[in-house]
Amino acid sequence: MTQWLKDLGGDTFAHSYRLDEILFDDHSPYQHVQVACNELFGTMLILDDAVQTTTADEFIYHEMLAHVPLVAHPKPRSLLIIGGGDGGLLEEGLKHPLDRAVMVEIDRMVVDVTLRYLPGIPGKAFEDPRADLRIEDGFAYVRNVPAKFDVVLVDSTDPKGPSVPLFGEAFYGDLAQALSDDGILAVQSGSPWYQRDLIAQVRAGLRKHFPIVRTYVGLVPTYPGVYWSFSIGSKRHDPATVADAAIAARTASFDLRYYDAAQHRAAFSGPAFLRPVLDT
Ligand code: SAM
Repeated sequence: MTQWLKDLGGDTFAHSYRLDEILFDDHSPYQHVQVACNELFGTMLILDDAVQTTTADEFIYHEMLAHVPLVAHPKPRSLLIIGGGDGGLLEEGLKHPLDRAVMVEIDRMVVDVTLRYLPGIPGKAFEDPRADLRIEDGFAYVRNVPAKFDVVLVDSTDPKGPSVPLFGEAFYGDLAQALSDDGILAVQSGSPWYQRDLIAQVRAGLRKHFPIVRTYVGLVPTYPGVYWSFSIGSKRHDPATVADAAIAARTASFDLRYYDAAQHRAAFSGPAFLRPVLDT
């Protein structure tokens, strides 16, 4: 019998995916971990019945969460990623001339299944000598971070289970401490269509610790509702004012398929219905 995954976008609607083959299905101490195949989206990483990333569209989300903040910083040398167990964000981050990239992922099983079933997503990122993978709770790690970072990216699951504290104001305060004097923080902040309260919560938390707070939008085909948001807290550099020429020069050799100067500009031009959220 054909099996379908119902990826809930709240209580009233869901994205459904026909699961043509289940490659992995187990429970870690933190979540239900599955890897399955779908004819349109390729191989999918699924955590607690929510599609996290797929071989077909992972480039969109990872390019948008990585390069908008990294290009907004004039010379990032150090990157911290919280979550991001599939390694896609780490791969994009390491395209920049960084000295080091620390990735703090709570669940070893996510990294292991990615390397085994979705190796194209991280590519060689985990083997890069600049990469430093820590299997621990990002919330605790940031409390005692040993050194400052120029850019921090929070690539967590939606707020449930271990990622709930990653959406709180206290966490943003700890992240502000972990950032250099001109550091930039970027987080995935949910759907502008049905999670506007979450976006408002994230922005309010960021405002307490950062002088510049911006939210930008993108399209992630496998996230329920497709329309997605990312929010930035920045100590000095405004990501919405990066010059097109700088974006082109900084990413010319990156072999990107979604992000470019035009997408950067469009991402910060949120439509009128979002103004009440984006202007708070
Ligand atoms: N792009 C996806 C999204 O937007 O939902 C997230 C992908 S990534 C797989 C999410 C990762 O966050 C998971 O591997 C999960 O184990 C990790 N995670 C959740 N809570 C965490 C925590 N407190 N510390 C570190 N990693 C955490």
